[in-house]
Amino acid sequence: MTDMQDAIIIGGGPVGSFAALILSKLGKKVTVFEDHPNIGSPAHCAGHISIHSLKTLGLYPLPKKIVENEFSQANFYSHTGFSFPVNLSKPVTCAVNRELFDKHIFLKAKDAGACFHLNSRVQSLLVENGFIRGVKVSQINESDKIFKAKIVLDAEGISSRLLKQTDLKPLDSKHLVYAVQAEVENLENMQSDRVHVYFGQAYAPGFYAWLIPKLDGTAKIGLATNKGNPNNFLDKLMFDHPKASKYLSHAKVRKKEFHSITLGGPIPKSVLNGFMVLGDAASQVKPTTGGGIIFGLRSSIIAAKIANLAINNNDVSENFLKLYQEGCIKAFSFDFNTMLRFRHFLNSLSDNKLDKILRFCNKIGLNKTIQNVDEIDMQGRTLIKTISKPAVSVTLFYLFITYLTTNTLNLD
Ligand SMILES: Cc1cc2nc3c(=O)[nH]c(=O)nc-3n(C[C@H](O)[C@H](O)[C@H](O)COP(=O)(O)OP(=O)(O)OC[C@H]3O[C@@H](n4cnc5c(N)ncnc54)[C@H](O)[C@@H]3O)c2cc1C
Repeated sequence: MTDMQDAIIIGGGPVGSFAALILSKLGKKVTVFEDHPNIGSPAHCAGHISIHSLKTLGLYPLPKKIVENEFSQANFYSHTGFSFPVNLSKPVTCAVNRELFDKHIFLKAKDAGACFHLNSRVQSLLVENGFIRGVKVSQINESDKIFKAKIVLDAEGISSRLLKQTDLKPLDSKHLVYAVQAEVENLENMQSDRVHVYFGQAYAPGFYAWLIPKLDGTAKIGLATNKGNPNNFLDKLMFDHPKASKYLSHAKVRKKEFHSITLGGPIPKSVLNGFMVLGDAASQVKPTTGGGIIFGLRSSIIAAKIANLAINNNDVSENFLKLYQEGCIKAFSFDFNTMLRFRHFLNSLSDNKLDKILRFCNKIGLNKTIQNVDEIDMQGRTLIKTISKPAVSVTLFYLFITYLTTNTLNLD
């Protein structure tokens, strides 16, 4: 058994490290356990993030070597290859190198005083008198050790192995999509000033595919799907898609990673006595795009502040920690609910309907109307802000009619 800590954090991903940073800055003794020997590796993620949100979190500008590209444009393709282009007035998103991004947050947390143990897998939670009081950790070439703390924060990511040892309901596997993410080089005629998004049951059923060019001429491509093998769909995208194949059919794939994405919205309950769940483990991921970095980081600020108060008040009961859950609901539930509905709507559309919608958006000039949007994470609020613009309300009306004909009349 080792020294009592204020907080133990399970997982040195961006969310665990960010929570460690904030708690350490608040003067707490924090220990983070990370299973892998290196922070940020293997990287399984496209690292496409909103600049506005990073600024809000105090993380932008990032050191230059972390940022692979910045984007003010995106092309959305239907299965026919029809492209709806969106051109915003300034760069709104960036692609980051996920390994370097995770290391950047880790180093900040270490500088603030957090202690990291790499190659250290938390095997189980230590429960005493109905409270989670610590963890059992296995480290290479050593016998398992118990570490105790006043509070344990679970940022173990999507696997939710430890969460499943508790009474909390883990994320629902029926909302998982299976993803592949690849690094490619030798692209032809690449438009590297924009992100490319490909819809279509033939290429990414239940989600979409992406191509994110980097300034060095290489790119990240990937997709997620709710059925079949993502690797087969990736081949199809690269070789058969009417537009993507023009860039990708001779591309060389350098590296591939496989991982899941949760699209079901946050788990209903994320606290127990002495225990809080955050990040992908709590399914704090946008159901529309699968982006989990920003919501995970935002939630970790709320979690760290409540954990700090709980430790100061000597009350880590579930009843007190509920403030974290309530804080997240207050901050994000409108946006999550809007995004969940939109995901449900997208999944109900046939490829032909999606093609029609993209053509409609193009025809009425939706692109020009949304030129000044820079908040792309809080999608419910962005919708409310833009709803008074004629092209947005006409599009919504069109979507509503499409929704009705898809879900009740089924006229396709
Ligand atoms: C293909 C793909 C593309 C994506 N693209 C984007 C994107 O463009 N933008 C975006 O915002 N999001 C994206 N995401 C989602 C994003 O990657 C996650 O939301 C984000 O990584 C969540 O961070 P986290 O810290 O909660 O979990 P993770 O990053 O998964 O970190 C969890 C950490 O916990 C460690 N761990 C797990 N169990 C234990 C244990 N028992 N003991 C010790 N350590 C443990 C793991 O090794 C890992 O390092 C993508 C996801 C995928 C799969």
